Amino acid sequence: MIENVFSGSDVSEFRIWMGWADRYVILTHMGPDGDAIGSSLALCHYLRRKGKEAVVLVPDSAPEFLNWLPGADSIRVYTDNPDESEELVYKADVLCCLDFNVVGRIGKIAASFIYSKAKKFLLDHHPYPGANYDVILSHPESSSTSELVFHLICALGDFKLINTDIAQCLYTGIMTDTGALSYNSSNSNLFRVVSHLLDNGVDKDEIYRRVYHNYSESRLRLQGFVLCDKMQVFPDQSSALITLTDDELQRFSYKKGDTEGFVNMPLQINGVLLSAFFREDKELGIIKLSFRSVGSVPCNRFSSDFFNGGGHLNAAGGEFKGTLSEAVERFRKGLDEWSRSSEDCIRQLFIK
Ligand code: 5GP
Ligand code: MN
Repeated sequence: MIENVFSGSDVSEFRIWMGWADRYVILTHMGPDGDAIGSSLALCHYLRRKGKEAVVLVPDSAPEFLNWLPGADSIRVYTDNPDESEELVYKADVLCCLDFNVVGRIGKIAASFIYSKAKKFLLDHHPYPGANYDVILSHPESSSTSELVFHLICALGDFKLINTDIAQCLYTGIMTDTGALSYNSSNSNLFRVVSHLLDNGVDKDEIYRRVYHNYSESRLRLQGFVLCDKMQVFPDQSSALITLTDDELQRFSYKKGDTEGFVNMPLQINGVLLSAFFREDKELGIIKLSFRSVGSVPCNRFSSDFFNGGGHLNAAGGEFKGTLSEAVERFRKGLDEWSRSSEDCIRQLFIK
């Protein structure tokens, strides 16, 4: 039996809204990943099955390897049409906020979000939810927001409405947020959920291939270049750093999503417990930062202590306004500062 994550009272207000609300806009974070898009599309399909007008609105486009997801062609992208997007937000009855905690994560949509009179619903698994919502369902211990969408639908009594489209979207989100069930997923209830998704028409091997075996030749060569020439390892600090300049990315015909997963690679080295990946984004004029860690090393603390970023214990991110070399300098100084910490979760990086 699948254990319920939400009780009837957790979802009672959402249920009341469903009695009168027709227009739902589902929002998710900038640089949407598999969980952001998977959970949003799954909720969108569910709401449409309930006879609602539902649409997914993202701040910027999703990577191409998610284009095959059922309903992906109906996603609205803010940057494609800002006026229409803002109108959607203002006219919504309910704004469903998926896979992010604070409104800063939805970029330019945040302004219309704050002024919209719609009911605001947060369903998320990042720690520290913000305060701009009417209802908050925040479960940081959950593998993914997609897992939470599954439990939301169950708590609303609509387990039977989970069809193959919904199941495929949910499995994709669970898979991408857990490295194909290799981290953040040692939980038998999650496997029961996955089992139910398989019973509902998900071919997990096919989804794995569509998402992870979908590279261009240049993407795979970029990976080789990164591992050979661009990965620095700091054994005394149990850490590693990969950086990529815009020029290097262009040399390998970079497309959005091509660097997905790079930050995880150094963790395959015995002894590396903290990994960082810095990518120069000339279009946005920032350095995009990604952090990953193992066990109790809090990479979200590293991101917030030194880069004003955030995220989960073992997967965090942020943005740096400055040059790539300044970001690297901040990283090295951050590790030096951390080496003086007396906290066990941080000290373990510096003990041989
Ligand atoms: P990724 O490295 O996959 O881009 O992000 C990993 C996690 O870090 C995300 O799930 C999100 O929780 C967090 N994250 C990514 N970028 C940012 C950011 O710019 N600010 C904050 N606060 N968190 C971020
Ligand atoms: Mn997620």
